Amino acid sequence: MIICPECKKEQADTAQYCSNCGYMLSAKPHISAETKKKAYIGIVVSVVLIIVAISLVTTSEFSHYIENISYYADQYAETKSHSSGFLGSSYASLASRWKEMYNEAVTYVALHSVGAVILSIVGGVGLYKGLKKLKNDGGTSNGTH
Ligand SMILES: [Zn+2]
Repeated sequence: MIICPECKKEQADTAQYCSNCGYMLSAKPHISAETKKKAYIGIVVSVVLIIVAISLVTTSEFSHYIENISYYADQYAETKSHSSGFLGSSYASLASRWKEMYNEAVTYVALHSVGAVILSIVGGVGLYKGLKKLKNDGGTSNGTH
């Protein structure tokens, strides 16, 4: 039970207005348990998305590729420059191997980076919305328990 600050009559905890004098007991609209539950689920899902986003760009593969992209590119340029000279065909096949490595690294880094950015944005927005929903709940009791 809560006590109306205006007329001192007891009112139900869920009452938004005093049934006796009409005093507004809750400044903000009552947030249902269902809304609260959805907000919590949203927050949990958002946090998971953010964790997945972080894990996409913190794998050992990711850092390995990031460190080696320019090396692969250099090796490709180097071996390709020899592909017309002595042992040309060997250098050409080496060059195509370096090119493959380079493409693989670029694709991996690009996909994981884009995925991480998208998941971070979705997770961040979801987290913000979920927390906002719960924050709106703060004024419901109006400090009179
Ligand atoms: Zn009252």
